[in-house]
Amino acid sequence: QEAGDAPGHQPCARRVLVFPLPFQGHIDPMLHLAGVLHARGLAVTVLHTRFNALDPARHPEFQFVAVPDGTPADVAAMGRIIDIILAMNAAMEASPAVGEALRASAVAGQDGRPRASCLFVDANLLAVHRAARALGLPTLVLRTGSAACLGCFLAYPMLHEKGYLPPQESQLCTPVPELPPLRVKDLIYSKHSDHELMRKVLARGSETVRDCSGVVINTAEALEAAELGRLRDELVHLPVVLAAGPLHKLSSSRGAGSSLLAPDHSCIEWLDAQRPGSVLYVSFGSLAAMDSSELREVAWGLAECGHPFLWVVRPNMVRGCDVDSARQLPDGFEDAVKGRGVVVRWAPQQEVLAHRAVGGFWSHCGWNSTLEAVSEGVPMICRPDAVDQMMNTRYLQDVWGVGFELQGELERGKIKDAVRKLMGEREGAEMRRAAQELCAKLAGCLESTGSSQVAIDKLVSYILSL
Ligand code: UDP
Repeated sequence: QEAGDAPGHQPCARRVLVFPLPFQGHIDPMLHLAGVLHARGLAVTVLHTRFNALDPARHPEFQFVAVPDGTPADVAAMGRIIDIILAMNAAMEASPAVGEALRASAVAGQDGRPRASCLFVDANLLAVHRAARALGLPTLVLRTGSAACLGCFLAYPMLHEKGYLPPQESQLCTPVPELPPLRVKDLIYSKHSDHELMRKVLARGSETVRDCSGVVINTAEALEAAELGRLRDELVHLPVVLAAGPLHKLSSSRGAGSSLLAPDHSCIEWLDAQRPGSVLYVSFGSLAAMDSSELREVAWGLAECGHPFLWVVRPNMVRGCDVDSARQLPDGFEDAVKGRGVVVRWAPQQEVLAHRAVGGFWSHCGWNSTLEAVSEGVPMICRPDAVDQMMNTRYLQDVWGVGFELQGELERGKIKDAVRKLMGEREGAEMRRAAQELCAKLAGCLESTGSSQVAIDKLVSYILSL
């Protein structure tokens, strides 16, 4: 099969361009959306930055175009996402490279490649959206966070005007009636970044959303019906505001296909040998970091909890340290957990969460991890770190009842108690039941007449009308 031809549709009559933000939690949903559209007969060209470049060999069904992004090496090396987003956009705005790449990719090719109908862009890539606009190419935004998160980020100016933000210590538990069920502490903010930088990034993201030709959100009506209703009222001028997720369940492409780190599949064999529902999976996503003292407490908490566990310790997970984080686990830990605990540097997470042996997930509650857990019915311990993770925790704990937050300092005794609560018979059983119910509702959205499939149908019709 040629690149650009969808199975059973040769050759494709229409093509879309996609341009993900080059971070794991943004790349995966964009490529899943690409996979869903490709399966519906559309050809796909993936434009990507050189920073965290994608590997075309893993997706022979798509065409790939590498675009120079101009991110300064020192900013890239620091690894702070907010700085990288701003620097990358500034460099792309100052250079004709993005416009040239878009123009060359959008036109019909002499080889029969159809013209592109539109570009799907991450909201954080305003520079790319503007370049597409200048060419007259319609853009649609893929929101890789929740509907609540998008609502919050569009409301950012109001949240400042009304004094909710920047958050004051004394007001953290104050409800924000404009965005129920959120409290001040659930709003988007970074505990690690300058608040003004966050404000700037979100203002630019809002511009992309308000100025585009439609929004696709990686969520589902079963999870966020009220939030989606509020968003549609807010974005009433956009022809489509669609909830088409969880995209990883709609796409046939394998979860780890766009991993920036190589997943260690040996953990699946280990899971195969464990009792159903007995294993706690622990992962803090692709960016969240901790101090070495926190790493030590997590290690001993897991060692003392008595439950089997699979823990992802990314090479750069310990803040301010160049040594591979897995090598910084405390002396004696390996022996203490032998046969009961496994540590990997990167896991095939979707496969892990879908494994029958996994009975709980301790997570930083990034939106992808949240969706991946709820769509397998796995209850969670929530340890939010930044951005939208606090509001995801609010939903997991207080709206869906499928998890609880581990608050305060990380300390081995508290960790042990939290794991026992989640994996245990009393409260754990209640959360497992709620997680199974939510999982069933979500499965309904994915059926052929379910809301997410219908959203994809509408999206395809819309693309064909452009
Ligand atoms: N992930 C993975 N293997 C790991 C850890 C994470 O494949 O060992 C994937 C996970 O499945 C999810 C993504 O990385 O799709 C992380 O996205 P999320 O939104 O949860 O958090 P972020 O990394 O953006 O903070």
